[in-house]
Amino acid sequence: MKEKKDRDITCNGIGVSPGIAIGKAFLFSSERMDVPAFCHLDKSFLQNEVDRFKDAVGTSKAQLQKIRERLLKDGKGRGKEHVHIIDAHIMMLDDEMLINDTIKTIKREKVNAEWALNKVLQSIKEFFDSIEDQYLRERGSDIEYIGDRILSNLLGEKRVSMSEINEEVILVARDLAPTDTAQMPGSKVKGFLTDMGGRTSHTAIFARSIEIPSVVGLEHITQLVKNGDTLIMDGNSGTVVINPSREVLREYEKIKEQFYSYEKSLHYYSKLPAETVDGHRIKLMGNIEFLEEVPEILDHGAEGIGLYRTEFLYLNRKDLPSEDEHFNAYKGVAEKVTGYPTIIRTFDLGGDKLLPSMELASEANPALGLRAIRFCLKRTDIFKTQLKGILRASVFGNIKIMFPLISGVNELRMAKEILNDAKAELKKDGKAFKDEIEIGIMIEVPSAAFIADILAKEADFFSIGTNDLLQYCLAVDRGNDHVDYLYNPLHPAILRMIKNTVKSAHDAGIEVGICGEMAGEPQYVKILLALGLDQLSMNALSLLRVKKAIRTLNYSKLLKISDEILLMSTASDVKNFIEKYEEKSFEDMPV
Ligand code: PEP
Ligand code: MG
Repeated sequence: MKEKKDRDITCNGIGVSPGIAIGKAFLFSSERMDVPAFCHLDKSFLQNEVDRFKDAVGTSKAQLQKIRERLLKDGKGRGKEHVHIIDAHIMMLDDEMLINDTIKTIKREKVNAEWALNKVLQSIKEFFDSIEDQYLRERGSDIEYIGDRILSNLLGEKRVSMSEINEEVILVARDLAPTDTAQMPGSKVKGFLTDMGGRTSHTAIFARSIEIPSVVGLEHITQLVKNGDTLIMDGNSGTVVINPSREVLREYEKIKEQFYSYEKSLHYYSKLPAETVDGHRIKLMGNIEFLEEVPEILDHGAEGIGLYRTEFLYLNRKDLPSEDEHFNAYKGVAEKVTGYPTIIRTFDLGGDKLLPSMELASEANPALGLRAIRFCLKRTDIFKTQLKGILRASVFGNIKIMFPLISGVNELRMAKEILNDAKAELKKDGKAFKDEIEIGIMIEVPSAAFIADILAKEADFFSIGTNDLLQYCLAVDRGNDHVDYLYNPLHPAILRMIKNTVKSAHDAGIEVGICGEMAGEPQYVKILLALGLDQLSMNALSLLRVKKAIRTLNYSKLLKISDEILLMSTASDVKNFIEKYEEKSFEDMPV
């Protein structure tokens, strides 16, 4: 951290989603509060504690009413869906178990309101945890949410939830979980800053998908920034300035203008093909999480959806999505994408994306645990529901299925068996589906990259998930800023794994693409073309930049340098070679 003039504090993190944002800070915290304990209170203080508690309940009710009104006024989509949850929370503020028991505990045990409330919350939680019925058991987390709100009002802490953001802000948080970002009011948040996170952490991918700048791995930004501070953030360089001087502000206003006019100029490429100067076409496709992202992806010239991450159907809800919900979501996307393929990745939950409805025991190493296809093969009921939804939607477009985190042939065979069961059940029920639906797999575990030749015989296509492939191959947690310096897609081991996967796919006559974040970085385009990838799938923002880069390259010359690249010892050797290559005209190339 470096001090600039009197006020500006500049910090540097990892710029993971490009763009400049200037705005007020909004500190978001999802961590639990410290609860003070005062015991053996004199009798004369107890009524005051009861009154403080009742006031905090009243304030909580008023806050929820306000959120409710705003959600109703905002009107659309995700906001409106939250109204019934808020209604339930308002009702819970009259819950006898919560209110009366807390008042009784204050009086009986002569303790402060916070401590009494905390104690009652614990016993309510234990009560709910012991209920057999899953739906009722999950009501326990609603009570916890309500309890936290009363507690923060008692403590005088302003803890606000995402749904309360009603002005344009830059969100500052220690980290953001998928459950947090899924309830974020998109149009109000101008950027993300987090203490934790790496290039392919969930926050980074989410920021890119909704096209807002983001800087992660800032270490202490939550301690340096106060609510309402003015912030400048540069998602390209990773720079953040807190309370800038007028001079710095003016400087960044200019940079911002230049950046967005460059962005605008890129639209020139939207209707042009992704074709090298010697006429080689690459398929560029889009990565999405929501239906709403499809128009932008198509507008930027994508030839379909290369990765539809379906996890978001499962987040921020207490129950599991039904077959019909799956069907409607996928049908909606496939119909919008028309003609082009939509590759639906079956849900990748577990690991860092945990859900209350899935009852997963906590694991010491969740990234190496019951995640993605492993979870699906254990909970075949949940998996089959999704597969049936996908199959039924396949009648409405060019849908393909993709299984994540395949580590060996058996997993693929078992997943196919469940798919066959799903087909049989649909047939029995007389529901239509496309029997010949294509089945692809993600290559994101090193073992899969090594046996790509074997897997290629049983899959219709490959898509390389470089985000996880790097994590597992280089033993680098993809969300940990401390080891981000090791997370390098140009590591020779990664390049060789990609090459082996491409060769195996082509020998077997199937297509191979990349849908990890590496595909969307223009700096890697030359290498990916040299390695022979058929398809690249990325967020909407990257499509035009990558297309622009492709249109300056000569494919046949790039193919000739691939052997040389694969013999290099380090990532920096590869980087230097590629940078130098850029400086020369094609005619000068020693190929
Ligand atoms: C990947 O691992 O590269 C990938 C695309 O999947 P996700 O980022 O969703 O794990
Ligand atoms: Mg992955």
